[in-house]
Amino acid sequence: MSTRSYHHFIGGEVVDGAGRGAIERRSPAGGRLVARYAEGTPDDIDLAVEAARAAFEQGPWPRMSGLQRAEVLNRLADLIRDNRERLARIEVEEVGKPIRFARGDIDGAVGLTRYAASLAMQMAGSVYTNIGAGKTALLTREAVGVVALVTPWNFPALILSQKVPFALAAGCAVVLKPSEFTSGSAFEIAALAAEAGLPAGVFNVVSGYGATVGDHLTAHPGIDFVSFTGSTRTGSRVVANTSRHLVKSSVELGGKSANIVFADADLEAAVDGALMGVFFNNGECCVSGSRLFVQSSIADDFIAKVVERSRRLKVGDPFDEDTDIGALIDEQHLAKVAGLVRTGIEEGAELALGGKVAGGSAGHFHEATIFDRVEPGMTIFREEIFGPVLSVTRFETVEDAVRLANDTAYGLSNYVWSKNIDTVLTVAKRLKSGWVQANTVIDGAPQLPLTGVKGSGFGYEMGQAGFEEFTQLKTLLIHTGPRAPVFPV
Ligand code: NDP
Repeated sequence: MSTRSYHHFIGGEVVDGAGRGAIERRSPAGGRLVARYAEGTPDDIDLAVEAARAAFEQGPWPRMSGLQRAEVLNRLADLIRDNRERLARIEVEEVGKPIRFARGDIDGAVGLTRYAASLAMQMAGSVYTNIGAGKTALLTREAVGVVALVTPWNFPALILSQKVPFALAAGCAVVLKPSEFTSGSAFEIAALAAEAGLPAGVFNVVSGYGATVGDHLTAHPGIDFVSFTGSTRTGSRVVANTSRHLVKSSVELGGKSANIVFADADLEAAVDGALMGVFFNNGECCVSGSRLFVQSSIADDFIAKVVERSRRLKVGDPFDEDTDIGALIDEQHLAKVAGLVRTGIEEGAELALGGKVAGGSAGHFHEATIFDRVEPGMTIFREEIFGPVLSVTRFETVEDAVRLANDTAYGLSNYVWSKNIDTVLTVAKRLKSGWVQANTVIDGAPQLPLTGVKGSGFGYEMGQAGFEEFTQLKTLLIHTGPRAPVFPV
């Protein structure tokens, strides 16, 4: 593909903006210049918020029926599906992820958009008739207003689709700031939304750096709600920004999930689940099962199998259909991952596989890496590595497994492998995370909400709960008939 150039998309127009120039994106898998994105400024954000406000207050979108909004969203889903290969290739070029996972992301985006379309038709409130003589209360559900969305680089099209169609289904108007590394698919999907019939100004995209445009957007007084996905550090900055104007927010942040394997699990499936848990999307995944806990009685054999299968994973060109692990997002991130691997070795974890940067100067590749006998005091047990690096810790009892799994600042997801329903439910109930999966890993569906606890944030993405984030209830209490005076003077 040739180098793509993107400008802001504001009020239904492609605009140069007040920016200083362009952010150049080079492929993390070889260095070719793949895209240029306009470098936005706070003025561009002001324009986008103004356009969204006008579309929300005066435009047709929030006033359309749920059916009409659903029709537009379903057309958008069709267009994303029809552009599957092109969008997937953009993700591969900009993110460095293997093509088969990029296609899965686009399929996920289609499913999320269709599900959001169905929710547009189900937006409903409730009625109370049991609150006293002559009184009826209507709880109506309304669009929250103009929403600011900030997305990260690991799943650009997919995470966008966990937010944008849900906001649109509710009747909101959107200003989106995609990651500075991977803004292409946001502009492509905004253009497809316009082609699907979305009115001008409802979906605006401004590219640029987080510290300038992201910060200005999330602190903007013209915003009614902020939905953010990214690091815990930036997430807390975003919450500080929103609190200035008492704006509601939802922040989906990092994770350090446990993947717990009991001796009575289907061990073949659990080995595959261990690989999927940590190597999916190059390990650049907030719900990675990056801490593997294995019951001692099966640990030696099980870990040997995980190592043996991981040794066969193909690291390299993300466009190769057989590649399992592509390139990490940039040089700095590769250096961070490599640094944490060095720390793991220095702190005494047992390196069972990999451990090195791969591919020389051709790209930002890192070998599939496994550490055994990782202790809770070690840095690699605690820090989110966000790369293809697995920590393995052995445990004896259910009690140990729960204690070790919960020994983290994060609480996004956890995974349990056992054929015993008693073990699964006992452990699942005691895990402190918004999401628990048993006998599967990094699985899901548009109907199922994702949320974090502790350092993984708060608020919901996807599902009915994710949709309701973009709405608010209004209570309308009506009195009919004679009303007894309160001050009969
Ligand atoms: P960030 O949290 O910095 O970036 C996420 C998004 O926030 C990007 O669009 C970024 O913009 C934007 N942003 C940055 N600063 C601000 C700000 N002050 N106000 C508003 N928005 C801002 O993550 P990084 O890309 O720096 O990744 C660092 C680490 O975060 C990773 O190593 C990983 O541990 C974690 N992470 C977690 C993700 C998840 O899915 N939960 C996703 C990505 C990262 P820009 O990129 O343009 O600067």
